[in-house]
Amino acid sequence: MTRLALRGDLLDFTGLPALGDVDSPAVRFRPDHWLLIEDGRIVAVQAEAPGEDWRREDHRGRLILPGFVDTHVHCPQLDVIASYGATLLDWLQTYTFPAEQRFADPAVARAGAELFLDALLAHGTTAAVVFATVHAVSAEALFEAASVRGMRIITGKVLMDRHAPEGLRDDVEGARRDCEAQIARWHGQGRNAFAVTVRFAITSTPAQLAMAGQLLQRHEGLYMQTHVAENTDEVRWVRELFPEARSYLDVYHRHGLLNERAVLAHGIWLDEADRTLLHDTGAHIAFCPTSNLFLGSGLFDWQAARSQGHGVSMATDVGGGTSLSMLRTLAEAYKVQALRGTRLTAWSALHAATLGAAQALHLDHELGRLEAGCMADLAVWDWAVGPVARHRDAVARGAVSPLPAQSLHARAFAWMTQGDDRNLVASYVAGRLHHHRTGSSGEPV
Ligand SMILES: [Zn+2]
Repeated sequence: MTRLALRGDLLDFTGLPALGDVDSPAVRFRPDHWLLIEDGRIVAVQAEAPGEDWRREDHRGRLILPGFVDTHVHCPQLDVIASYGATLLDWLQTYTFPAEQRFADPAVARAGAELFLDALLAHGTTAAVVFATVHAVSAEALFEAASVRGMRIITGKVLMDRHAPEGLRDDVEGARRDCEAQIARWHGQGRNAFAVTVRFAITSTPAQLAMAGQLLQRHEGLYMQTHVAENTDEVRWVRELFPEARSYLDVYHRHGLLNERAVLAHGIWLDEADRTLLHDTGAHIAFCPTSNLFLGSGLFDWQAARSQGHGVSMATDVGGGTSLSMLRTLAEAYKVQALRGTRLTAWSALHAATLGAAQALHLDHELGRLEAGCMADLAVWDWAVGPVARHRDAVARGAVSPLPAQSLHARAFAWMTQGDDRNLVASYVAGRLHHHRTGSSGEPV
């Protein structure tokens, strides 16, 4: 039996913070508390130090949060992150498809999966919904690498049987066989879960979309991931390909792909009927602000999502997105909403990247809270790194005379807006340390 106690400022959520509420009662802040972990799970949270039979790590003065959940990110696209000068459709042709072709090679897929998962952990992200490539081996490599690390990963081979180059297309029956094999081998094995993964409506024939719907019908508890309404040219093309559908989102609905485990990236160009459909089916949108800004796709409307009651989680969408850092992503989310005239609190943003994502994925018994019973998937953060952020944090704490101390929200917002992977001290998956910044340790006491 392994027993570990972490000391720090514990921050998590007990409910959904209202969009503009800086004093939300759903925020749970427990400064200088101990988090007790036994056999990979949180067993208690307390103000008093535990007994001598607990191994202790003292992170006094640091933040401890549930590990971030990135609900939409592409493993093979680390090769093309930060590629210049394209919008969605030419970006796919010019950069992404050539990069994905490399993942047909099992050795490339394996090395790519390991690099990718370690990179997530080095950014404080402990769980993710991930796109592999069309090649079965690319998803298998992710499942294998996630199993070694004990991470909660949701993925599956990508379905695409048209409008993609040679070497990146499958066919309906071959894809069905590959998916069935992955479901049998990986779905529910350890912390792995299978997602029926339609790249987007453009790259799947109606026959393949129907097959994807059949998989969801046949197997209970599968996830579904895809892209929707990211870019206006894309939306136009979908309308040409599926003239019978009411909207882009409706293409997926008609093929039985929308359910309470469906994660759709972007959802920028949706209308009211679409948002109602998301609410009614329980599907939710993964908001990808760095990608949406970088590719110039548009500004996601969080207020409308909230008004119509569908879920929103946060995602980096690397490589259209420009960083695996969820803190950078949340900071960009604030700016996107500011351009729409809405102010996103740090609470709404952080909630969507932790408990909100866990709830949207029906994994909140396991992820997203610092509470007895949950897996100890955690990240330890410095409140500030570097002279400017440290000064700003001192101002927020009231340590710069004669300025009065600011609210907890002011401090958390400054952390979220200025922070990135340099702030990360350590990541734990199921209580096991997986990433530790060099030169900075939780001193045993
Ligand atoms: Zn994407």
